Amino acid sequence: MKTTTLIADSKRWSWVVVAMLSAFVMTVAPLVVIFGGSIDAPAVWVKTAVAGWGQGSDDLSFWYPRTAHDKLHGGLLVEGFDQESCHSRYQSAMYRRNPGRKPSEYLVSKLRRHEVLQRRCGPGTAAYSNALEQLKSGKNAASPECTYLVSISYRGLGNRILAAASAFLYALLTDRVLLVDPSNEMDGLFCEPFLNTTWLLPRGFPLWDYPGFYLDTAERYGKMRENGVLRTDVMTGSSAAPEMPAFAYIHLDYNQTEYDQLFFCDEDQQMLLNFQWLLMRTDSYIVPGLFFLKAFQEELDMLFPERDTVFHHLGGYLFHPTNHVWGLITRYYRAHLAWAQRRVGIQVRVFPWQAESPELLERITTCTQEEGLLPGVLDTEQPAVSTAKTAPSVKSSAVVITSLKAWYYEQMKSMYWENATANGEVVVVNQPSHEEFQHYGVKSHEYKAWAEIYLLSLTDMLVTTGKSTFGYVAQGLAGLRPWVLLNQQANGTAGHNQPCSRDMSMEPCFHIAPLYDCKRLKGSGTIVPHVRHCEDVPQGLKLVE
Ligand code: GDP
Repeated sequence: MKTTTLIADSKRWSWVVVAMLSAFVMTVAPLVVIFGGSIDAPAVWVKTAVAGWGQGSDDLSFWYPRTAHDKLHGGLLVEGFDQESCHSRYQSAMYRRNPGRKPSEYLVSKLRRHEVLQRRCGPGTAAYSNALEQLKSGKNAASPECTYLVSISYRGLGNRILAAASAFLYALLTDRVLLVDPSNEMDGLFCEPFLNTTWLLPRGFPLWDYPGFYLDTAERYGKMRENGVLRTDVMTGSSAAPEMPAFAYIHLDYNQTEYDQLFFCDEDQQMLLNFQWLLMRTDSYIVPGLFFLKAFQEELDMLFPERDTVFHHLGGYLFHPTNHVWGLITRYYRAHLAWAQRRVGIQVRVFPWQAESPELLERITTCTQEEGLLPGVLDTEQPAVSTAKTAPSVKSSAVVITSLKAWYYEQMKSMYWENATANGEVVVVNQPSHEEFQHYGVKSHEYKAWAEIYLLSLTDMLVTTGKSTFGYVAQGLAGLRPWVLLNQQANGTAGHNQPCSRDMSMEPCFHIAPLYDCKRLKGSGTIVPHVRHCEDVPQGLKLVE
């Protein structure tokens, strides 16, 4: 055969092969997903997802996660982790339509340096053993090789996540190794954030009773300041260190005293530098308080040139669901969210003792319809609310409701099933679970709570309940400013007659604001730039851009 004929033949064959492959991909790919194909492998089906993503087309692409994703989140994450041990770490970006904000280069390099510190000084190292010995001796180390911050884990999951993120920022700013108390399932919910080391405080920690540290603890920093054991006026740097206790306990729970709040004062931060070990109890997002400290301001400016992204970045860096939780998230996502053009998350934070509230339901429906998140329905008894803000091209919406109760979901589901929507849009409402009560220490309950927070964070539009840390975590991970259902007692600037109010920033609120004027020991009410009072908790503070 002549060479030209050979080439022509091979070209013809290659077209046949391409055509057959295309047919195979188009018919088999959707089946791979529908029949439970693994999402771990970058399988062929993922390829079909790119076309039409987020454009509102009718094709099947909405069944699939994104392919054009940045699995390292702009350098926030590093390569090198074992993918099997934590699927979510490198897959989560596929599930987010909103790619989120980019971290600053300075934050990325700071994280890389901090990871080195965590490895050099973390559990299992000689430095860690030495530090434990020092702690056991009861004496303070004069010039320790490594310093540590232990974050005590308590209260609800949202509280614990915000506390760990706050502790991490403080550890970053002060070059301390962060160790997280593993209790309350903190060891089963999250993958390790630091490569080749652990952030979990190992068993056998010498201060075995640390989970019970509270106001009476002799080493409580505020107490030592109040009774004069520690005095900033006579404190002269590290020379005084040996007389000090081996550790200090920072108490920032709701009943903190004004002496505990000295933590947010520069002179006291100087004093705290002398402690090799700090243990911190907070259930709050104390980050806005760290912006009050002059010593940290320059560094914070460089780390977070966009002030409203602190939790967004730190949360995205630290909190990766473990494989079991990731299974809960991805199965629900594929069954109930992936197909829709628009995904709306609604967090209805109610307490077990609260009765079902038609008034709250009314606020939710009015809020979502007036703000254009969901269409109104055609109902003779209850005419549709104006849908002026609804995007005209949206044809399908999936709503995920999270709540301890099922009633709100049932009402909304029925409303969109029993009535046509004003714009012909299909709206399907679902709820992953309704646990009725907060079960402390129950693994499956914690798993569901984390999965639900995460699912809310995968939506395109979010409605949250004011004051809830559960919702704060979702909005921060999502990188979204939510519409907030304000508590009726809230007295924010938008007023509480409105069904909801668009949050001024995606940052969580620090509920118990610290003193600003450290010298006078009384809050002056002055607020530094980029820190404002929260709308849902008027005495609280939050970061805004
Ligand atoms: P906050 O109390 O609203 O600030 O949120 P937290 O997360 O700190 O504490 C509430 C706890 O109640 C959660 O951690 C869950 O254990 C439980 N909980 C509250 N709302 C929900 C919900 O919608 N779904 C699930 N699964 N659990 C919830």
